Amino acid sequence: MSKPNMSRLHHAIDLLGKLVAFDTTSKNSNLGLIHFVRDYLAEYGIESTLFHDETGQKANLLATIGPKGVPGIALSGHTDVVPALETTWVSPAFELTERDGKLFGRGSADMKGFSACALAMIPELVKRDLEIPFHLCLSYDEEVGCIGVGSMVDHLAKMDTPPRLAVIGEPTNMKVINGQKGKYSMRVAVTGTAGHSSFAPDHVNAIEYASRAINLIADKAREFEQNGPFDADFTVPHSTMLTTTISGGTATNVTPEYCEFTFEIRHLPDHDAEAVIADLQKTIMDTLDAEMKAKADDTGFTFEKIFSYPGMGDCTDAEAFSYVSNIIPEISGKVSYGSEGGVFEKKGNIPSIICGPGSIEQAHKPNEFIEISQIEECLDFLEALTDQAAAA
Ligand SMILES: [Zn+2]
Repeated sequence: MSKPNMSRLHHAIDLLGKLVAFDTTSKNSNLGLIHFVRDYLAEYGIESTLFHDETGQKANLLATIGPKGVPGIALSGHTDVVPALETTWVSPAFELTERDGKLFGRGSADMKGFSACALAMIPELVKRDLEIPFHLCLSYDEEVGCIGVGSMVDHLAKMDTPPRLAVIGEPTNMKVINGQKGKYSMRVAVTGTAGHSSFAPDHVNAIEYASRAINLIADKAREFEQNGPFDADFTVPHSTMLTTTISGGTATNVTPEYCEFTFEIRHLPDHDAEAVIADLQKTIMDTLDAEMKAKADDTGFTFEKIFSYPGMGDCTDAEAFSYVSNIIPEISGKVSYGSEGGVFEKKGNIPSIICGPGSIEQAHKPNEFIEISQIEECLDFLEALTDQAAAA
């Protein structure tokens, strides 16, 4: 593999600086960044399709480079970043700053680095005689539950020739990751009856019923830990389930009328989280909720889904995986954190792997950075991918 030429590296770093300068914290609009990319691509004669959310303030961008009517390779990046409110940033979070071979800035690793590399390849891609196309896929609202990318993946899946492979450029230090857990999170509201605590037996204690439900969640978690299903390729080799927040009660001498808690399951790609939650919900309704209602009407449990995203299964036996394995033969395992890979694979039926520059260790922290050597490695990878996609 040849080293990427210096001008391409500089181009990638320059583009990364521009991408980082857009404060695309998930609560903000990402249209500034999306329009910048659309205009950049237009300079090379590449058309973009935008998929807006219902507010019109956020969008996915899809651009195809190369021939139509042939299944290609999707290069996927999310444009949103986590907040950068920490006071310990040494340099401004939304200003890419170089120190000691590292580029600091929110999103430098997670994951504008990959998007910048893909964009830096555009001048090369339009020059080459590509036999299969590349689909640049930039999404919104990944950090808040992979909720933006769906509309774009639906579109890809319905194409006459959907992509044969998706490379999700989350930071893996350019290692190939062949699996990712899914997540399903829920909010539970428990309504009891308020009254003087000295008459506790007359009332329905919302916190106590909530705590009994929480014990059922903990029981399920123990069951997964002991009985599986298992996949040893994950660092935590089974699905996990836990209560994550709780609030309730009004005063130390009042029976609590209300309690609310949230819980999540992070599940192996083929473990049916929906069924687990339906089963748990039924148990709670048949026992705890029934017991509450027997004591007082208008009490009981209500459940609300917060969000879910699917896990990404192992696609390394797909024929198109050879495009990647020809460059990086080693598979480095599966990860428990979320990515859009599960949406591409499960919802779009597109074989997917995760591989991108930078380290997840640096993500979601103050002074997030990406090493310049990682940008170089990613450009190497994309050049090698281009060589395979182009006519000899
Ligand atoms: Zn990310």
